[in-house]
Amino acid sequence: MSDFSQEADWLRRVDGIRQHTRRADGGQRAPNKPLLLLYALALLQNDHTSVIVYNDTYHKKMENLLSAFGRPQDAQQPQLAFRYMTSNQEINRLWQVDTNKGADIEAFQSGTEYSGFKLKKLEAVGRLPASDEAMLLERPDLIRVTARRLLDKNWPPSLHADICDRLGLTLDLSPQAIMEDMQLSAELAALTSCEDSSDDQQDSRQRRDPAFRKLVLRAYEYKCAICKWDGRMGTGGTVALEAAHLRWHSSGGPDEPSNGLALCSIHHKLLDFGVLGLTVERRVLVSQDFVGGETTKRVTALSGKPLEDTQLPEHTPDEDHILWHEREVFKGPARPFV
Ligand SMILES: [Zn+2]
Repeated sequence: MSDFSQEADWLRRVDGIRQHTRRADGGQRAPNKPLLLLYALALLQNDHTSVIVYNDTYHKKMENLLSAFGRPQDAQQPQLAFRYMTSNQEINRLWQVDTNKGADIEAFQSGTEYSGFKLKKLEAVGRLPASDEAMLLERPDLIRVTARRLLDKNWPPSLHADICDRLGLTLDLSPQAIMEDMQLSAELAALTSCEDSSDDQQDSRQRRDPAFRKLVLRAYEYKCAICKWDGRMGTGGTVALEAAHLRWHSSGGPDEPSNGLALCSIHHKLLDFGVLGLTVERRVLVSQDFVGGETTKRVTALSGKPLEDTQLPEHTPDEDHILWHEREVFKGPARPFV
């Protein structure tokens, strides 16, 4: 296998982890595996190894990451990625788990035992397969390409920098590096999609419609749908006003105004973090978990506030997209309406 096909094979396996995470009605997020992979990539960058010892520190760290960037749920389960990425199919394998105790790791992999407690007791150690690790250590650009693809496919752009900061992952943001990464990513994607047309379809689904921003901002008359922010800079147009997706683009959300909200930067970020949500009556939800000092009262006071109307009724947020956001992103329970 030449170096290039090994790289394409790696990316094909990384792209493949999404296939196990879709459900019939579409769009259930499954951030465990992408977060574990990003964690391993950050380790490669910083410590030149992907080895993770499954101890209390790791469990807690990943639990916190999942609370911040995962689905809203009562109990996060960091151990699941350790299990699910050790696929039985050799060709798809992305993660190896071994134990220092010589205990029954097979039972763990087959699913009869996979609690975090069990992993800690077994002194389980996970890592990328050695050949992948060696390849990535020689190709820092492939680490970046992989990380960018994982971020693009699982989170909205507004959260990418936060995720990288929390993981200690460095993505070169110079225009030249981005250009080079995009080129390599496209070349490798072309190699992998030839083999599997469903990947091709998924990639085209990921493409963004450049008209989305304009349509959404116009629908809300160029102001934040929550706070009416409409700051402008001379004749340079709006400042800190963005088009947000309710159902994330990465989860199949369409680039249509009925899936969009014009929001100021802070309300966009709070929506994507799950601090803010919407009811189907289009009133603002605020998470009970969101707390802070005096200035955060500007956010908690939004609870129950009606969203601004769109110019055209057909651009009103779609109920399905609102409910997707509530189920997959909003970190309930919501505060009582004020
Ligand atoms: Zn706003």
